[in-house]
Amino acid sequence: MEKIVKFYNSLTRQKEEILPENKEFIKMYSCGPTVYSYPHIGNFRAYLFMDNIRRTLKYCGYKLEGVMNITDVGHLTSDADEGEDKMVVASQREHKSPWEIAKFYTDIFMRDAKRLNIDLPEHIVPATSVIKEMINFVQGLIDKGFAYVTSKGVYFEIAKFKNYGRLSGMNIEEKLAGARIEVDDEKRSPYDFVLWVKAPKEHIMQWDSPWGKGYPGWHIECSVIGDKYFGDSIDIHTGGIDHKPVHHENEIAQSDAYYGKQVVKHWMHLEFLQIDSGKMGKSLGNTYTLDDLEKQGFAPEVFRYFYFMAHYSKQQNFTKDAMEGAKNSLKSLKNLVREHEKGVAKVDTAKYEKEFVEAIADDLNMPNALAVVIKMLKEERSKDVYNAFNKFNQVLGFKIEEEIPDEIKELAKERWQEKKNKNFAKADEIRNLILEKGYEVKDTREGFEINKI
Ligand code: AMP
Ligand code: ZN
Repeated sequence: MEKIVKFYNSLTRQKEEILPENKEFIKMYSCGPTVYSYPHIGNFRAYLFMDNIRRTLKYCGYKLEGVMNITDVGHLTSDADEGEDKMVVASQREHKSPWEIAKFYTDIFMRDAKRLNIDLPEHIVPATSVIKEMINFVQGLIDKGFAYVTSKGVYFEIAKFKNYGRLSGMNIEEKLAGARIEVDDEKRSPYDFVLWVKAPKEHIMQWDSPWGKGYPGWHIECSVIGDKYFGDSIDIHTGGIDHKPVHHENEIAQSDAYYGKQVVKHWMHLEFLQIDSGKMGKSLGNTYTLDDLEKQGFAPEVFRYFYFMAHYSKQQNFTKDAMEGAKNSLKSLKNLVREHEKGVAKVDTAKYEKEFVEAIADDLNMPNALAVVIKMLKEERSKDVYNAFNKFNQVLGFKIEEEIPDEIKELAKERWQEKKNKNFAKADEIRNLILEKGYEVKDTREGFEINKI
């Protein structure tokens, strides 16, 4: 399915057609998680957004290469250069090394992303795996005259970069006029930001560099990881709205200064998930994880459905009622799909496909796309509808297959045991019983698998 895809570009402030540099091949960068605590559903709204873009582009005929960083060093408790490294704070809190912290929370992030059926990028890159590349990039910025060294570290000099503030529409001159007195008098401007931090001896994460032992600032990792995979041109860059005024301004400054050209063409930002109409965040302590949702009776997929109920550019309000609504809607959607599987009516689904694609290609209008799906499912029961749904489901990412009931799983285990004990007749008997109940058990190299027939 070929279709013109238009997404809102935060940089130009208008919807623009996606026209990748390499024709049908899209280079997409997404800001990834800071792995210092449990990822919450606000974070996962950001990764469902990434998933939504990836699946939509693929559906519309594009090839795609995605890159996402994992921040395991350098993200201070403020997004600017203040506070302590979040990884170090977590390591003190949990009496583990920052490396153990990073591994633990990265694994949880990956596990939960899988539970949400998120289509993850092809490359997932921890910041600590590109320290050498970061040092080279920072040296490059010094050589090109965009960065300077102080007793505390290496800083980017924003006065040298004329477009600073363009993304978030800030007027840096006005901001400078009203700036508070800077505590660090070695910095040439209060808005100069750190690229490399010289670490005190006792700092737990540090590496050798031309500027002494230290660690990278937070922003540099995204410029460097983007550069490593895509060089001087990235088609789409995604992230949460909170990244726009600091992290992404700094990323643009670093990358564009380094290459002397605009590196990222299309910036896309996701608005925040609110909780009971208020702000949610790890630092506020009012966050829910996927495990918390499961305890309240909401499977991860219900949160996926909930994501589709609002446009990404609007704040979305998380409430128990809204989640109940999503849960019921998802259940009836699945029931209808299963009914269509056995349907015999003839339905022309082309008009639905046209409307569905129009919705997703119009800046990811998922509420409209979902409405089209629901309208189609109200048709007379038809295998055509079932087939069309499965096509749309490449974008929606729901699991339609029924869970295998416990009873069947138990029978399959019994059969396996009988087989191991060489009671083949008994094993076959159980296999037939399973068949009668509508399931098929097959032996695999690791054991067995059960499928609905
Ligand atoms: P962090 O792990 O804190 O670096 O955040 C990971 C991603 O989650 C970033 O893209 C943030 O913008 C995003 N994020 C954090 N809180 C929320 C929220 N409440 N709603 C939506 N996105 C969020
Ligand atoms: Zn980033």
